[in-house]
Amino acid sequence: VLAQGELSLIRSIRARASQFAPPDLRLGIGDDCALIQVRPGEEIAVTTDLSIAGRHFQLDWHPPEAIGHRTLARGLSDLAAMGARPVAAFLSLGLPQERTRKTKAQKSWIDRYLDGFFALAHATGTPLAGGDLAQSPIAAADIVLLGAIPRGRALLRSGARPGHLLYVTGALGGAAVGLERLTQSASRAAVKKSPPRLPGKLDPLLAAHLIPQPRLAVGQALSRRALASAAIDISDGLSTDLTHICEESRVAAEIECGTLPIHSGSTLEHALHGGEDYELLFTAPPSVRIPRAIAGVPITRIGRIVRPRAGRATVTLLTPQGPQPLQPRGWQHFA
Ligand SMILES: [Mg+2]
Repeated sequence: VLAQGELSLIRSIRARASQFAPPDLRLGIGDDCALIQVRPGEEIAVTTDLSIAGRHFQLDWHPPEAIGHRTLARGLSDLAAMGARPVAAFLSLGLPQERTRKTKAQKSWIDRYLDGFFALAHATGTPLAGGDLAQSPIAAADIVLLGAIPRGRALLRSGARPGHLLYVTGALGGAAVGLERLTQSASRAAVKKSPPRLPGKLDPLLAAHLIPQPRLAVGQALSRRALASAAIDISDGLSTDLTHICEESRVAAEIECGTLPIHSGSTLEHALHGGEDYELLFTAPPSVRIPRAIAGVPITRIGRIVRPRAGRATVTLLTPQGPQPLQPRGWQHFA
């Protein structure tokens, strides 16, 4: 049993979830199962993501609103990478009892977490359709996301072919520098009595880490307009996620170093290997004209897909000093 009272907590979550009930969701929280009816000719995309305190977020120095936002953003970014539109989210939380405790003056940690979660849910039209709550010695959040996509139109990692061009949305490396800044300021600060606030106006590097924006509109446009041959979201870093595309497509890739859209205030190293940018990396045949921006998000061509060759690295970085093999050393590198 949780401090706030499991039933009252579920009631408040249900009340917040029911403020948004799109037609796909025939039955949300309150019965044994949710009921979902997608449009004729659509198939369902499913993704799941587990976040654990101390590993994926820090209770001491991540604002709870940002943790809630990021729980949902991680799942939505996977839907974006397939070109799916969100249909329903299922959230399971394990929480130490004190995280549900509120005072007259202060919201509980869980209420602030849900503020961040529901703000992104409403902004992206994602209903919370169910989940679970349990007391746990370690805070953990598990999200399941369901998306819908016209049958056969999902963007897969396996569709890249030699000669296809390589594109990325937005800017890279911002989230990794934002995380470094947050870590440094946290280690300087004294132990805090309560979790930090999410400032009203965020530095763009901190925003890239704390409130990343999943590229749902771009992914759906790439699928609907049949622009991309393969796609992935950059959760683990460009070097690692491009290697995933190459392995699934059985191809190799070249990145032109000078073309990379490096986030202002970030570095080439962070743009190549820093994780959690949640931008989309995709390929397209050279005959397909890719717009400079989709849904207001800039698109940059950063290289091309080539035939794999024995003894040569899967990903090669083309620099003014000549080609260099690029090892996949994303997220873990910065862990
Ligand atoms: Mg992904």
